[in-house]
Amino acid sequence: MKIKFVNCIIALALVSGLGLASVSQAAEKKAAQKKAAPKELPVLTAADLQKIEAALPASATAKPAKPRRILVFSRCEGFVHGSGIVVGNKALELMGQKTGAYTADFTTNYDDFALDNLAQYDAILLNNTTKLMVPDPAVQQALLDFIRNGRGLIGIHAALDNFYDWPEAAAMLGGLFDGHPWRGNGTWAFKLDEPDHVLNRAFGGKGFKLQDEVYQFKDPYTRADRRVLLTLDLSDPATGGVTQGVKRTDKDFAVAWIKNAGKGRVFYCGLGHAGNVFQEPAVLRFYLDGIQFALGDLKVDAEPKAAAK
Ligand SMILES: [Zn+2]
Repeated sequence: MKIKFVNCIIALALVSGLGLASVSQAAEKKAAQKKAAPKELPVLTAADLQKIEAALPASATAKPAKPRRILVFSRCEGFVHGSGIVVGNKALELMGQKTGAYTADFTTNYDDFALDNLAQYDAILLNNTTKLMVPDPAVQQALLDFIRNGRGLIGIHAALDNFYDWPEAAAMLGGLFDGHPWRGNGTWAFKLDEPDHVLNRAFGGKGFKLQDEVYQFKDPYTRADRRVLLTLDLSDPATGGVTQGVKRTDKDFAVAWIKNAGKGRVFYCGLGHAGNVFQEPAVLRFYLDGIQFALGDLKVDAEPKAAAK
């Protein structure tokens, strides 16, 4: 399967063109942001590859019950996270190969959501997709059923910058993007909601700092239907000092979670704006364990739990 970047670029151009025709100021601003998005994906450098390889986990935490296959989707109708997609996809590919936890196929083609194609996969992973448009109600239903009938759904970073017109999918993944007050050039603090949760072993039971862009989420974000694993640590002066663009009055800035969806499982991790994140050993371990949870191989507690205050 070949990645069809051209589709992404054409769609981006079309969307930008339509946006500019709008008279509202907000739409013009949005269109300008889209216009500013990189149009071509960067080329993976030898240095990047070396950093990914050095950061890969040595082995999977759980032995797969059977050979697993993941469909990694990274189409963008909006902003294009260039290095997040290129470095991220390479890390995902190599991590599956090295640990034997899964095999990954990569696509940007909506046709690959057809039921007969999906049948060969155990999970769908959205790596930095933006403003996805899945207009066919039958395909939408098939995707939701695919997960609810026992498969996995994994979202990385901009995976929540989709589905503004598809509430069921937004609810399944667990929220919608509502700005990123914590900018990508900053280094921010993260805390573990449950230091002893199996998936948080990746971080050695301790909070950490990382250069990344951190999203704020709006409804359908809630803690009532999921197990939140990571949250922005506002006790850190630099992180807690950010006020511009902050809208949530409850200061609940969850970063990663797991949840059940029917017989299926969902893992979302907001870390992953740019390539550097996919070169961090602890983050790759966290992704791998979360992916294994979504695949059904790593059994962990995903029951909702009230926020630790
Ligand atoms: Zn981003």
